[in-house]
Amino acid sequence: MSFSLHGIGVSKGIAIGKVHVIDHDVIEVSEFSLSKQTLEDEVNRFKEALEIARQQLSRIRDSVPKNAPGDVAAFIDTHLLMLEDSSLSQVPIRIIREKQCNAEWALKLQCDELVQVFDKMDDPYLSSRKQDVEQVVARVLRILRGYTELPTASMGELLSGAIVLSDDLSPADTVMMQHHGILAFATEFGGTTSHTAILARSLGIPAIVGLHKARTYLQQGDTVVVDGFNGVLFGSPDEFLLNYYRTRQREEKRYRAGLSKLKTAPVATADGTTITLHANIEFPEDMAAVKRVGSNGIGLYRTEFLFLHRREPPNEEEHFDAYLRVVNALKGGTITIRTLDLGADKQGSDFAKLESHHSDSHMNNPALSLRAIRLCLRNIPEFKAQLRAILRVSAFGNVRMLLPMISSVSELTQVISLIEQVRQELTREAILFDPKMQLGLMVEVPAMAVCTDIFLPYVDFLSIGTNDLIQYTLAIDRCDDSVNYLYDPLHPAVLRLIKMSIDASNKVLKPISMCGEMASDSRFVRLLLGLGLRSFSVNPEAYLEVKQIILNSNLVSLAKLANKVLKVGTQADINVLIQQINTQA
Ligand code: PEP
Ligand code: MG
Repeated sequence: MSFSLHGIGVSKGIAIGKVHVIDHDVIEVSEFSLSKQTLEDEVNRFKEALEIARQQLSRIRDSVPKNAPGDVAAFIDTHLLMLEDSSLSQVPIRIIREKQCNAEWALKLQCDELVQVFDKMDDPYLSSRKQDVEQVVARVLRILRGYTELPTASMGELLSGAIVLSDDLSPADTVMMQHHGILAFATEFGGTTSHTAILARSLGIPAIVGLHKARTYLQQGDTVVVDGFNGVLFGSPDEFLLNYYRTRQREEKRYRAGLSKLKTAPVATADGTTITLHANIEFPEDMAAVKRVGSNGIGLYRTEFLFLHRREPPNEEEHFDAYLRVVNALKGGTITIRTLDLGADKQGSDFAKLESHHSDSHMNNPALSLRAIRLCLRNIPEFKAQLRAILRVSAFGNVRMLLPMISSVSELTQVISLIEQVRQELTREAILFDPKMQLGLMVEVPAMAVCTDIFLPYVDFLSIGTNDLIQYTLAIDRCDDSVNYLYDPLHPAVLRLIKMSIDASNKVLKPISMCGEMASDSRFVRLLLGLGLRSFSVNPEAYLEVKQIILNSNLVSLAKLANKVLKVGTQADINVLIQQINTQA
């Protein structure tokens, strides 16, 4: 019989396919005493587990696609080397014999020991390597538990056409999977604007997060339907349900084909106001999707994805090469390159070597800690490499630089003086750059939104990052599905901050755009137009839908209605106004 599991639909679309389960859970281990006679059998069991782990990793290593980002293969090589290291291959055997205990317990004791050693290391890079140890140990423990199968197919074959079901996916996981033809993502945790959700949207893959305990009801290979519009996953779908969703899939395809006809139309409202509509990207490879929808500008290039799956941060040339690929692909359009925004949910398990925490204390609230510009200002050489690359690439196209998470003027002036240093260095080295390259700020911390007028004299443009602005204004973790119900772009506090920033920028005639996910949401486009927003940067999947709404909107009466939304408090009143705004001719 069919059953349904309900979560949060974070990327629209329908997928029908078989589940591929990915497990990251912590494995509980108990201690058993063994008799002397069985100790050598236990040692052999442990050795076999190591061998299977080695074979598994080698197969995964062989299947890493050539175009996978960064150093994915090197990341797996490290795990292979760790398996062979005597601390994991020999010491547990000694523990089994000495303590007369089971292999799982011996391995756990040794893992705890190693983790402690890593924890005490001053070098933040080495100390963060404990995650590798934990991941390798988890693999061996799973094998000792009986999960011994070797992947018979390559990772690509396993994932191609599959619906990936997991507890959660780090951005690094998602990146690694993006080239494999996955049909949909379904996770037990995560929020609407987590980076996995954003990536799923930019890949155009349906995704649902917050499907609690889904893995208890579903197994590897089960057929499911993912309804990313409504956040519902159906298990054991019967013929009736399958037919219904196949029809909806066909309708959706027709709708998309209709939208693609808008590709070349100029972006303007029905009453003639020109609107800037650009696209958000994460990788140079995303330019294919940008071209498909006909965008002639990039309003947000999130460069942090260059840093995932690597041991070392990218050097200046790697930055430069990636940016130049985007510049060359766009041929003349504006490209807004945002400097590194690592930290918080963009941590991944294996992000590049950057000082990510205070020397002796771990972050309790990563979203409020050393993230983005704060992390960059603690890692000046790596930051300068990025600044140099952005400035260098500005000689080849219409490039702008965007700074994330700025909350104080002193932070901003530090960055401005670093940029000035870099300009002087480049001039001395006779390296070309655009001396007029524009500098902009993300409005994503409420402190910035309230004081936009104070920051504006220092910069050329602003871009509103609603994903974080909402998180920080309403004090809700954007990745935590337990508070997702409070994540509300229509909260009057959020709307007022947006309005304040737009008004302050308009007053001094400096451009302001919105690149947060709110701009990509068809429900809010007219409201934002009514609040005075004239520039949007959206994920490529949403681009044509947003364009269609702009083409069908009349600005005349929108402002009045939008201003009313700023003043109402209850959800019901807000819904009535939004309904009016969105149905107006
Ligand atoms: C935002 O916060 O809205 C934004 C665009 O930045 P990110 O999602 O990368 O944090
Ligand atoms: Mg942000």
